[in-house]
Amino acid sequence: MKFHALPPEVKCPSCGGALAYIRVRKFGDLYQCARGAKACPGAVLHYCKAGTTRCGWTRVLEAKFPDRWIECADQALCADRSMD
Ligand SMILES: [Zn+2]
Ligand SMILES: [Zn+2]
Repeated sequence: MKFHALPPEVKCPSCGGALAYIRVRKFGDLYQCARGAKACPGAVLHYCKAGTTRCGWTRVLEAKFPDRWIECADQALCADRSMD
């Protein structure tokens, strides 16, 4: 995990259920619905916004990426980790 854990209020964007940490992607941490990818397509990517040193998260849904980026209240260090 590159960043701090996502706040517990961040839920699956598809079904509203819990998220499970999956793996580090190129730009950030990927979380997927705890029900599993076959049961639910919802996922969240936790990354640093381009040109900033702020981290946040965005919903990942098929054909709808990137969605609105929501800044985390609890900030991790984002230097050199921006998404271009
Ligand atoms: Zn779900
Ligand atoms: Zn964060």
